[in-house]
Amino acid sequence: MEVHNINSSPYDANAYLIVAPAPVLVDVGMNASYLLDRISAIMEPTDIETIILTHGHYDHWGAVEEVSSATGADIVIHARDAHMLTDRMVSAAAMFNGEAASFIPERLLHENDTIDLGDGSGLEVIHTPGHTPGCICLYHAPTRSLFSGDTVFQGGGFGRTDLAGGDHRWLLDSLERLTRMNVDVLYPGHGEVTADNAAGQIRMSLQLARTYM
Ligand SMILES: [Zn+2]
Ligand SMILES: [Zn+2]
Repeated sequence: MEVHNINSSPYDANAYLIVAPAPVLVDVGMNASYLLDRISAIMEPTDIETIILTHGHYDHWGAVEEVSSATGADIVIHARDAHMLTDRMVSAAAMFNGEAASFIPERLLHENDTIDLGDGSGLEVIHTPGHTPGCICLYHAPTRSLFSGDTVFQGGGFGRTDLAGGDHRWLLDSLERLTRMNVDVLYPGHGEVTADNAAGQIRMSLQLARTYM
């Protein structure tokens, strides 16, 4: 699977461009012009079909209206985080001097939904609440890849649960669930992509999160 991690700054979330017959963006970050420039160097931006938001926080979707109008791509997010988009406080848009969204997502996602990549494979929606109520991870079974948003990070990191809608017990359940999956490559919402014992790193995140009550 051809994946490009496009990150404009340490303060911004990662955006992942998945180049496939039906190309997908996983999150977009906050810098639309940077993202669109980088995409243009790789492929035709208007070929992107879907923008998947891993959750409702602004650092993951601040650029989405501009990116979606430039690409024509549909915006999709888990049903339980959709309300965050139009709330400047709950989405943390205010924290980044951003505005609440004025768009409505084309599709609301639920557990077990799949976003088709057009090559016979797809990204499976794993509902992993905790950091927010509608956080999702996306699993690509053929390559054992996990796009983990702000649920789990490399090096034993995990999502904070002290923001609006966060719940540490839900996060522990979600992390536990991820430790039961076969993950070889971790694509987190912040920081580096890792293929170095990714499953072991997720187990470490669970262990550390358990000490954090
Ligand atoms: Zn977040
Ligand atoms: Zn984030």
